[in-house]
Amino acid sequence: MVAETVVTLEKITALCKRRGFIFQTADIYNGLNGVYDSGPLGTLMKENIRQAWKQSLRALPYDILFVDGAILGNEAMWRASGHIENFHDPLVECKACNARFRTDDVDLNKACTRCGKKDWSESREFHMMFKTQLGASVEQASAAYLRPETAQSIFVNFKNIISSSRVKIPFGVAQIGKAFRNEITPKQFLFRMREFEQMEMEFFCKHEDAQNLFEFWRTERLNFFSHIGITPEKLRLRAHEQTELSHYSSATSDVEYEFPFGWKELEGIAHRGNYDLSQHSKFSGKELAVFDDATKSSYVPDVVECSVGVDRLFLTLLFDAYSEEQLEKETRTVLRLHPRIAPVKAALLPLVDSLGEPFRQLARELRMQGIEVQFDSSGSIGKRYRRQDEIGTPFCFTYDYQSAEDQSVTVRHRDSMQQERIAFDQIQNYIKQALLA
Ligand code: ATP
Repeated sequence: MVAETVVTLEKITALCKRRGFIFQTADIYNGLNGVYDSGPLGTLMKENIRQAWKQSLRALPYDILFVDGAILGNEAMWRASGHIENFHDPLVECKACNARFRTDDVDLNKACTRCGKKDWSESREFHMMFKTQLGASVEQASAAYLRPETAQSIFVNFKNIISSSRVKIPFGVAQIGKAFRNEITPKQFLFRMREFEQMEMEFFCKHEDAQNLFEFWRTERLNFFSHIGITPEKLRLRAHEQTELSHYSSATSDVEYEFPFGWKELEGIAHRGNYDLSQHSKFSGKELAVFDDATKSSYVPDVVECSVGVDRLFLTLLFDAYSEEQLEKETRTVLRLHPRIAPVKAALLPLVDSLGEPFRQLARELRMQGIEVQFDSSGSIGKRYRRQDEIGTPFCFTYDYQSAEDQSVTVRHRDSMQQERIAFDQIQNYIKQALLA
């Protein structure tokens, strides 16, 4: 019988540590607030997320180019983008205990949640970019910033990309990489971090097509999340109110997910007009327009941006996949991840270690093809199944005494726990079919 699972942040955080998905960074030195490391399984799963995202862009009838920009950026670039002036959050401080909060997160009519006193400072703007220094000189000329988003390196490379690639408007430029924000209160585990990873795509188009393309990307991006296995009923699109829009945006929608702590942004989709390219053109003095053969005139393209965090999506996938089932004698924890997202695609489990050789060899063959499998020959088979359930492995194959005689194995399905016998030489196909679904 399957009871309704109550999934909490605590359960997900504990599972991540127990099974090697995510660790607090420098854990043995008490960590660093808002900064995490990926363990072996987290690393595999994040790579699957990146691949799925790239694949979703490649499947579309548009040219999408991939770039990989630097994390450090100079002051001029961040001034032009508006970040030096505008990238801050309102901060309020408790004067009694000096705790700091995002003003939007506290009710100023109530007492401080840390010390119980009610003595708030005025709200002020807190700048969220990390500033650093290049070289030994302390002069302003060597100041640099860790990027708070990946998008700007796409805009500043627009001219380089246009002149080095044979792309024509409309086309997209996509990037996956680290971003850094000095969040006032990092919280909810991977939801709000200080060092995180983004997957961003800037789609350059003519102004007259931008609104339709914005609608197109809204639908595409929403569909992407259900394609990788997220429950459609827990996803929605929310259009920003006019008052919420950033100064450059003519329309923005968020794909939101229903987390245990409420509906929250998973991805932002924004119609940015030609603000970014125009700003960089103005500040750098470089021409960033393209020539339109049809009208024989130049124009600065509009941009539709889609921006999602790898870590936030990772967290969402774990929340969505986590379930606990009450079996007769125990509770089974299962991650019902889509096979493409699951860190390990199959477990190869010889009943006893002396029957292990055929699976050892198969494990090598599958890994060489980029299919991640685990070979595990010790402990009771039931315990080995549970361990794989908990990390979301879709299939467990077992090699037993019958296998040695008739070249058949059992395959056990994670979700239904059903077992069937198939031919040993069908294992590869079996896994590959599931990955194509
Ligand atoms: P929020 O309102 O949640 O702070 P945002 O509107 O500032 O998000 P964007 O600047 O639109 O976020 O960033 C795009 C995406 O990057 C977000 O949808 C989210 O998935 C991810 N992201 C942004 N900030 C963080 C963070 N501090 N930690 C983890 N992921 C983040």
